[in-house]
Amino acid sequence: MFKTYIRNDQRLYYFTILLVITIMTLGLLIKNHLIEELGVGFIFHLSIVVIISVTLLIYPKYGTHRFRTIIIIEAFIYYYGIFILYPETWSNFIFLCFIPAVAIMFFDSKLFHFSLFINSILIAITFGFIALFDHGLYTYIKQDLVSNAFNYVGSQALIYFIFYLTNLRVKKQELYYEQIKQAERLKTAGQLAAAVAHEIRNPVTVVKGFLQLYEQDSQFNDAIKSQFTLMIDELNTAESVVSQFLSIAKPDEYLDIESVNLKVVLQSVTDLLNSYGLLNNNNIELEIKEDCYIAANKIELKQLLINIIKNALEASEIGESVIVTGGKKQDIVEIQVIDHGHGMSDTEIECLGTPFYSLKSKGTGLGMMICYNIAAKYKGTIEFQSAIDEGTTVTICFPSRN
Ligand code: ADP
Ligand code: MG
Repeated sequence: MFKTYIRNDQRLYYFTILLVITIMTLGLLIKNHLIEELGVGFIFHLSIVVIISVTLLIYPKYGTHRFRTIIIIEAFIYYYGIFILYPETWSNFIFLCFIPAVAIMFFDSKLFHFSLFINSILIAITFGFIALFDHGLYTYIKQDLVSNAFNYVGSQALIYFIFYLTNLRVKKQELYYEQIKQAERLKTAGQLAAAVAHEIRNPVTVVKGFLQLYEQDSQFNDAIKSQFTLMIDELNTAESVVSQFLSIAKPDEYLDIESVNLKVVLQSVTDLLNSYGLLNNNNIELEIKEDCYIAANKIELKQLLINIIKNALEASEIGESVIVTGGKKQDIVEIQVIDHGHGMSDTEIECLGTPFYSLKSKGTGLGMMICYNIAAKYKGTIEFQSAIDEGTTVTICFPSRN
């Protein structure tokens, strides 16, 4: 489906481009008084039409920002060129106003602002020149310079508005695509986790069963029995981890959803992780004043917070603090985990949530995947803001339950 989409997109591009080239060629050949003279003016017009046509036709092969910049510069030369060559055609002035619209077609915001800026300078110079030196060539502009200037400003505002709306739409679509990608990742990871977890669960149950039998057996002395108890405890932990993995693929419908007090949960999570942080002299500063409530399963919410705060501690240097804040913003409960650790690049942030993506020697690369999964289950979101060597801020939002 994606492929046909690209193909249709390309077809539309070539169709538009051929239309543009035809219009440019007609403009060059029909009723053009410069043809008869065959002077510098006509050669310039012909060359720029050929250059633009070739550039537009080969653009899809490269599609780079530099290429788009070249196209915009060519558009400037073309439109200002015909404005100067054919002063009697007043509609050329309208084309000048719409040069920045070319950048909108390429969805390039940087280029759009660049062309808007350059065009305003060039128009100011053109108007200045006409006001001072023109002798009857551009009477339609000169006679009413102020109104024409206003018209120009108005047209730029209109183009800006169109750009703003298009950009907003494109951003929304990108976000939607990202969400689909994330959901797809979770699905694959979930299926994988379920398959592995299932295979592990059976042997664990068998071993645990035997250990429980030995624990009751009078043949063994108390010292050995206490070791059995320890083994059973460890196996219980393994079992609970395995069940959590299974829950990714098969969400447990019977998991209790309650009104969880974030303040209490954050307090217990930070108490738990403080001892972990102390290993490297990292301290967790908790800032939460009011009680806020989230509709979720307490264990899962804790699991999410533990994963994210643990990541923040692991990214921090010795002695640095991690700040955890919680609070209510209208009908949203917002939690922020802020560290001043090594941070992440944009590509690294994009990879978060991909199963087994980890840059740590002993990492599993499953933490964030589980977090995204839990957040999605309770209609929450997790956002990362990070800069290399400056730190990371993770913002987690959930709908508030009153
Ligand atoms: P793990 O912790 O097992 O590596 P996660 O899914 O929890 O797996 O995290 C994946 C990777 O994301 C980590 O290896 C780390 O490189 C990066 N990461 C996550 N949180 C942070 C953070 N706060 N600062 C810097 N890097 C982070
Ligand atoms: Mg982790």
